[in-house]
Amino acid sequence: MSAQTLSTPIVSLCGGVGAARFLRGLVGVVEPGEVTAIVNTGDDRIFYGVHVSPDLDIVTYTLAGRVDARKGYGLEGDSYEMVDALGALGHESWFRLGDRDFANSQHRTLRLREGAGLGRVTDELRQRYGVSTRILPMSEDPCATIVELEGGRRVHFEEYLARDGAPDEVTGVDLGEARRARPGPGVLDALRDAQAILICPSNPIVSIGPILAMPEVRDALKRSRAPVVAISPIVGGAPVKGPADRLMRGVGVEVSARGVAEFYRGLIDALILDERDADLAAEIEAMGIRTQVRDTIMGDVAVAQQLAKAALSLAASLR
Ligand code: GDP
Repeated sequence: MSAQTLSTPIVSLCGGVGAARFLRGLVGVVEPGEVTAIVNTGDDRIFYGVHVSPDLDIVTYTLAGRVDARKGYGLEGDSYEMVDALGALGHESWFRLGDRDFANSQHRTLRLREGAGLGRVTDELRQRYGVSTRILPMSEDPCATIVELEGGRRVHFEEYLARDGAPDEVTGVDLGEARRARPGPGVLDALRDAQAILICPSNPIVSIGPILAMPEVRDALKRSRAPVVAISPIVGGAPVKGPADRLMRGVGVEVSARGVAEFYRGLIDALILDERDADLAAEIEAMGIRTQVRDTIMGDVAVAQQLAKAALSLAASLR
């Protein structure tokens, strides 16, 4: 079945960079307005007094074609005068928020202070950036992801990643806040109405993990009649980018497409894995998870589109 014949709406569970790359392909093969992105807010944090939502911004900027493509986050051509000036005044300036990015976060903060929820503010920014795909924060409640390190140290995920450079000494990940959070406005409705649910190739532990930690989301996924298809972010036993390996090991999940399958077991119907991992397909199928083997390295939009088509066709074949 071709992707064009697929029924919509489509819901995708998203982190930041890996998800945004995939979404860019997805909106090239289906009507962008038929896609709803439910995005991790476990990385959100106050920096310099403003509310930063890294994954929501990555998804918005990428779908708007405005992301700094080299970094995968931030705005193309942004300057860094604000953080540098704050650094010169003695503030910690390890979180490199660009000036226009800063303005968006300041805007978010002001709107939140006026009483607009994060869902509404995200929607306003989406419209301002001319994006027609719906972008929903997973929750409007605090959901900070805490990384636990050897010696009992506990740090916010952004401190772990951006400040400390993602060290290898992870002993656990605390998603307690996400576990107690209510899904954001529209999240459960979108899951209920979805014809296909796609789990983007994002960090399973700290990007998709917080979304799945919300009990109501887990229930909605289990109850949904829509097929759930995940794309493995682990290729050839390593992440394509970022610290997923350290976090997976830290919580006792094997760093492989098989580990990803185990982690999502009970929630997904199918997993797309990379050609390099073809030898794992039989074992994953034996877990009751359908598999498909593809080129999953989204070096350009064409690959992302092919991957999105494959995910949609797989979902259609499972309906
Ligand atoms: P972050 O919050 O910005 O780190 O973004 P995500 O959680 O969405 O993405 C990080 C994950 O995406 C990493 O585990 C990467 O391995 C994965 N990833 C990034 N690019 C690709 C790609 O082209 N293909 C696949 N299969 N995975 C990717």
